[in-house]
Amino acid sequence: MKTPPSILEAQSLYQDDLARRAESGQLRRCKLVEPVSAACHIEVQVDGKAAINFSSNDYLGLSRDVRLQEAAIEAIRRYGTGSSASRLISGTNQLVATLECTLANFKQTEAALVFNSGYQANVAILQALLEPGDWVLCDKLNHASLMDGCLLSGARWARYRHLDLEHLETRLKKAPPGVKKWIVTDSVFSMDGDYPDLTALVDIAEQYGALVMIDEAHATGLYGNARSSGLCEQFGLSNRITLQMGTFSKALGGAGAYVAGSRVLIDTLINRARGFIYSTALPPAVIGAALKAVEIVQTDPSLKHRLWENVAMFETLARQAGLQNRLTLPLQSPIVPFLIGDSEETLRISQQLLDAGYFAQGIRPPTVPPGTGRLRIALSAAHSVDQLEGLVATLTTLDFES
Ligand SMILES: *Cc1c(COP(=O)(O)O)cnc(C)c1O
Repeated sequence: MKTPPSILEAQSLYQDDLARRAESGQLRRCKLVEPVSAACHIEVQVDGKAAINFSSNDYLGLSRDVRLQEAAIEAIRRYGTGSSASRLISGTNQLVATLECTLANFKQTEAALVFNSGYQANVAILQALLEPGDWVLCDKLNHASLMDGCLLSGARWARYRHLDLEHLETRLKKAPPGVKKWIVTDSVFSMDGDYPDLTALVDIAEQYGALVMIDEAHATGLYGNARSSGLCEQFGLSNRITLQMGTFSKALGGAGAYVAGSRVLIDTLINRARGFIYSTALPPAVIGAALKAVEIVQTDPSLKHRLWENVAMFETLARQAGLQNRLTLPLQSPIVPFLIGDSEETLRISQQLLDAGYFAQGIRPPTVPPGTGRLRIALSAAHSVDQLEGLVATLTTLDFES
């Protein structure tokens, strides 16, 4: 059949861009990744090739936990596979109400609200709470969803250098008196694995009368003493942070997101956050699994301990192997950026590692700043010591051009 003119037109409009991306090593493509067995996400086939998975944010291995699966199945049996409409239309079932109540306790706040994804939550929250004329200050490496929410809000937007609180303060000083100010930051940074001194950040916020939103996507379940609820808990700041956002999609092994804060702010979001108002609520299976995951991390720190043992083990092995020049040590999280630099080189090294049986995604601009291409190695409680040793040994044999 002949291709119709409108399809040809679309091709001519977009294919040059794809070709340019391919030329500069920027073309993105999803690999086919299949688990070898249902029990574990660590042994996989990547485009048909056996590999150990170091590209997953399932830091505790909870996505394969039978307890979560049973909770999800039970939720399906009771409530079905879909939620049928947004919650303002079809209401909130008891499972969601229990999850939000559990989250508020987890985060030690008055209230919490569930969103369909972390991306959607950040865009919706910032668009709802920031208005043109407000000032919002963001760490330069904040997650794209936080940046998109700020842009969409129309607020005046300024970035400070990564983790540089003096620079944050300089920027805050410039805000005119009386203007509403928000400081927005990742807690653990998704591509660098580091985090700010949250106590100092909150001190500055209070000094200048700024509100604070912290994104705990990569910290929920991994940090904190009593409840493992994240870095806000670990820093002892739960009651001094305006909004704590986080996701179920990483260490909690599921999908979706939450925000925790005062009743007034949560009610404001229910009334203003378009991503909450205009999207069908998460399906019951996802809610059931999320509730079980929060219960597990709150009551049983054993997986968290195993993860941190693996982080320490990887660091020891990497030092012994002399890999310090490409790593930032000591590690502050299970996210290990292995610096390469050039985009094409990043792609090539990532493929070399994969050929040797280790899957660690090469991360290139615009996800990271130009010239800072890297392998993003994500460690998990589910990795064995053998697998960590194998990875480190292979990293020492990679054939770098730069
Ligand atoms: C992954 C991530 C998100 C998005 O969460 P999803 O549930 O994957 O949509 C938001 N913020 C940060 C810091 C993240 O790393």
